[in-house]
Amino acid sequence: MIVEQVWTANAYRNFNYLIVCPETGEALAVDPLDHEKCLARARENGWTITQVLNTHEHGDHTGGNTAVIAATGAKLLAHANAKGKIPGLDRGLAAGDIVKVGKTVELEALDTPGHTMSHVCMLSHTDTPALFCGDTLFNAGAGNCHNGGHPNELYDTFVNQLSKLPDDALIYPGHDYITHNLRFTLDREPDNAQAKTLLERVGSQDPNEALVSTLGLEREINTFFRLTSPTVIARLREAFPDLPDEPTAKSVFLKLRELRNSW
Ligand SMILES: [Zn+2]
Ligand SMILES: [Zn+2]
Repeated sequence: MIVEQVWTANAYRNFNYLIVCPETGEALAVDPLDHEKCLARARENGWTITQVLNTHEHGDHTGGNTAVIAATGAKLLAHANAKGKIPGLDRGLAAGDIVKVGKTVELEALDTPGHTMSHVCMLSHTDTPALFCGDTLFNAGAGNCHNGGHPNELYDTFVNQLSKLPDDALIYPGHDYITHNLRFTLDREPDNAQAKTLLERVGSQDPNEALVSTLGLEREINTFFRLTSPTVIARLREAFPDLPDEPTAKSVFLKLRELRNSW
């Protein structure tokens, strides 16, 4: 499997992806908002885009569909419940569905509500798994729930699905928010040495050559995986004095999500 991360350099800081079968050159484009860059990247490498996959229905993920499909005749895939929200859907995905790309690539659909209620993450069946997580999981952060999502479901997705993936899973999010998110981590957990070191490393990175994190790294530097950290809890109790000494993981997650909304 070849993964080509396409930095759009737009105001929303979107990442688009091409997932390619190295044997056949067939490619699946994930959220190809910057259709010109995605089409050019495929052309330069001799790849053929045969499928477009939207992780969810927001315009900064679906906005390139029409142009890519007009140029390639690709089929359009998204969460089954996105029918009616995303025009021209050819295949609606449910949890466990397999999407094949060429001969060698298999992607498994995870039903991951929270950011929206019709959001899929795609997990590759490769020696080192890769997770294409749209706006559900970001480097050092979690998606917001302002536009059709719910924090309770986002928590369930984190606890019941994302946190169960292996440490070596590569994380490919829909946006480049890493520096801002690491600053939030350090605001919540000032003694997180790994987050501090990472911020120094990525603070001036070129998003064209962005760091690809792993789930193991996220567990260390992403506040939304650090729900039992004594520092996170102590700092949270300063902001929310009503929070008990030993709050549930869920209440920590929900309070962090609330704080992050206005941070
Ligand atoms: Zn979104
Ligand atoms: Zn987005």
